[in-house]
Amino acid sequence: MKYFKRNQTRQIKIGNAAIGGGAPVAVQSMTNTDTRDWRSTVKQIKRLEEAGCEIVRVSLPDMESAQNVSKIKKNIKIPLVADIHFDYRIALEAVKQGIDKLRINPGNIGSKDKVEILVKEAKAARIPIRIGVNAGSLKAVHNFDDNSLRAKELAKAAIEHVKILEKNDFYDIAVSLKASNIATTVEAYKIFASKRNYPLHLGITEAGSIFSGTIKSSAGLGIMLYDGLGDTIRVSLTADPVEEIKTAYSLLQSMELRNAGVEIVSCPTCSRCCVDLIKIVSDMERETSKMRGLKKFSKPVKIALMGCVVNGPGEAKDADFGIAGGKNTGILFKNGEIIGKVKPNRWVKTLTDMLKDFHKQC
Ligand code: SF4
Repeated sequence: MKYFKRNQTRQIKIGNAAIGGGAPVAVQSMTNTDTRDWRSTVKQIKRLEEAGCEIVRVSLPDMESAQNVSKIKKNIKIPLVADIHFDYRIALEAVKQGIDKLRINPGNIGSKDKVEILVKEAKAARIPIRIGVNAGSLKAVHNFDDNSLRAKELAKAAIEHVKILEKNDFYDIAVSLKASNIATTVEAYKIFASKRNYPLHLGITEAGSIFSGTIKSSAGLGIMLYDGLGDTIRVSLTADPVEEIKTAYSLLQSMELRNAGVEIVSCPTCSRCCVDLIKIVSDMERETSKMRGLKKFSKPVKIALMGCVVNGPGEAKDADFGIAGGKNTGILFKNGEIIGKVKPNRWVKTLTDMLKDFHKQC
């Protein structure tokens, strides 16, 4: 797999996961259940695990939810992160309950003394802390209209809090600097990365619905990933969090940063198109999404679905295999060579069988 040149960051461990220091960009999400209802929370985390989520965060709005941490942890496989706002005592309870990482918000966690107490406990428990700076909760950011000045304020707040941790000899730190504006976010991450090498948790906050949020997150995260920034990502969507995982893997796969199993490439169709390609691609996506084991492929597989033989095979020459439409038929090709013909109603079945064979060979 080809990687962009990545920023060299310090590696930290979150339970059984590593972020930074050259580890693959980790995919994470956050539950949207009531954490006081630990059974529903576990149920959602299991769906996230199945979708490929590698780190999961739960918000702990009160002591009752913090007291559920050990019950949740016992029933899941991936590392659990506690999201804490306002009350540092909830964070202390989460540590006592065996949480794998804390996320604190410098904008509302309170005084330096309270942060220092937390740092001491996290150090004793050997768990990392994410300094999660959020433009929405930092008053100083709202003194400015200019995106660049806002970015400087975000980075300044992150550095100030990082310094509190460093003064206490604590370096298991991850940092995020989220805003809902792409320019502010990208600039803030760049400023921070020029001053410290802690692993970066990337995200565009309040990105929106599946459609608009996917576009906004992909634009923002894409710029930063291309620049080599980012050790873990969370795509924030107003949707089932499983959608965040699917979007994150698609984004990372499109940038050749992670192997998410099957990638389908298809043409936009035009007047040369000989088949109902829109339906075929949608059926193919449904079939591949059922083949969850494919995510564990040791190498990614690209399949192409093209509307005609005029440009199809040429446009899809990077694909491992695929089909290009002909009049009431399809030209099946593998590694750029034509290997047969398939009727349009057999395309999905033929390619699904070829994927299963490919899977066995991996
Ligand atoms: S592959 Fe053929 S049908 Fe598809 S866009 Fe290109 S020319 Fe048109």
